[in-house]
Amino acid sequence: MNPKMLARVTAPAVVIGVLLLAACLVSIGYIRHLQSNLASILSQNVASLQAAQELEIRVRQLRHHNMLYLLDPKPDEDLKTIQTDQQNFKEALDVAGQASNTDKERQCVRAIDDAYEQYKKDQALLRADAVPNRTPADLRRLVASHPISLVVDPCEALIRANKEQMETTAQQSRSVSQQASWAMLVLGLAGPIGGLIAGYGVARGFSKSVYALSVRVQDMGRRLDHDMPAVQVAANDDLQTLDRQMQTLAQRVEQVVERVQQHQRDLLRADQLAALGQLGASVAHEVRNPLTGIKMLVEAALRPRNPTPLNAEDLRVIHREVARLEQTVQGFLDFARLPAPRPGRCDLREAVAQARDLIRGRAEQQRVEVVVRVPDRPVVGYVDQGQFGTVLVNLFLNALDAMPQGGRLEVELGTAPNGGARLAIRDTGAGIPPEIAGRLFTPFATTKPTGTGLGLSLSSRILKEHGGDIAAENRTEGGASFVVTLPPPHPTLSPIGGRG
Ligand code: ADP
Repeated sequence: MNPKMLARVTAPAVVIGVLLLAACLVSIGYIRHLQSNLASILSQNVASLQAAQELEIRVRQLRHHNMLYLLDPKPDEDLKTIQTDQQNFKEALDVAGQASNTDKERQCVRAIDDAYEQYKKDQALLRADAVPNRTPADLRRLVASHPISLVVDPCEALIRANKEQMETTAQQSRSVSQQASWAMLVLGLAGPIGGLIAGYGVARGFSKSVYALSVRVQDMGRRLDHDMPAVQVAANDDLQTLDRQMQTLAQRVEQVVERVQQHQRDLLRADQLAALGQLGASVAHEVRNPLTGIKMLVEAALRPRNPTPLNAEDLRVIHREVARLEQTVQGFLDFARLPAPRPGRCDLREAVAQARDLIRGRAEQQRVEVVVRVPDRPVVGYVDQGQFGTVLVNLFLNALDAMPQGGRLEVELGTAPNGGARLAIRDTGAGIPPEIAGRLFTPFATTKPTGTGLGLSLSSRILKEHGGDIAAENRTEGGASFVVTLPPPHPTLSPIGGRG
């Protein structure tokens, strides 16, 4: 597929795909960020809750050991245990202080600290008054006068604050996962919707292109042939319609080509008829002169009153004129009976080499240097080799005729810009006589005493029947130049020709 077309078709889908991918990546990043935040908040809350519970446990331990001491003081063991409890409580309080991460928690920790200091002082005073073997009633009174709830209540408030915080975090987590679900749903829906939009855009663009192409096809059809009915083009044309239009256009092209070829055949036939007419007139002209000469001699010999017998000289004249008549008639027959060309693919370099071999002897005799320049690669032509050889020999012999005192004959074969062949034949002779330059390629145009004037007209006719041409001009540096052109080889298009 054409890369531009591919880009045009895939670009919208690629853009939408990239946007969706970017949206997905952003969502994933955001959700992961939220989740890691929540996880860290949650772990802080758990640590803070554990610290608050630890505090409550420690304070209850302290109270228990205090009570034991107050009931039955054993200073050595109990005071040590109480001291350890106080130290444990203080450490737990430090941990709780570090773990608290809201103002409310920090307030609770401060309240616990204050209440604990008070409780510690009260207990110290009580321990100072401690006496052995107190009754449970004494103890209840002591406990009531120094309630542990002063410390425990803020501990429980801290636990509650932590629980609330955890509940808030859990709530946030639920809302994040809800948001994530929504985001996924939106992205999931955006895929097919984006695909639909892209598909619609591509289809629209494609339809426009098809329409534009259809209009162009119609235009071409109209330009090819105005007589033919117009190709119908609708704005919503699809590929099938376009295909139908292309088929119609192809049929039209075939019809027009067929017509053009028929016209060419008609024209050629008309040309040939005109040439034959011209030839007939020329033959009549050529035949009349020798016939008049013969007639006068014969009439003089047959004169009744004073007959002049034919002498040897008269007979030679009659023989010469009859030979001229024969040559003229033969030339006419050659020209008129030129068989239809039987073209085939051939390397024109070989045709040039063969023609050159035929004139080599005469060129050497006349001291004419023959220079042939051909390309390294074959120059393929689609020609009747016999007829094309006749053309080459005619042109080479004419060049030799023009250089009786020697000279240089250059033959250059090459490829024309249209892919056909181009052959230039240049000589250093006297050049084309001006009196004949305008009718060089018409039959019987000659300046040579024994010439027929049929060589160039025959060559021109052969080349035209091959779809080629010939042109002549005099060179500025002296001598004549003939250029032969042949169309590109195309075996399926046989040269229009033959003689009907
Ligand atoms: P013919 O050779 O029988 O005269 P052509 O048709 O071959 O018939 O040539 C016609 C005339 O064209 C020649 O008589 C000559 O005057 C002229 N001509 C052809 N080729 C050359 C050439 N290479 N140099 C000069 N004149 C030429």
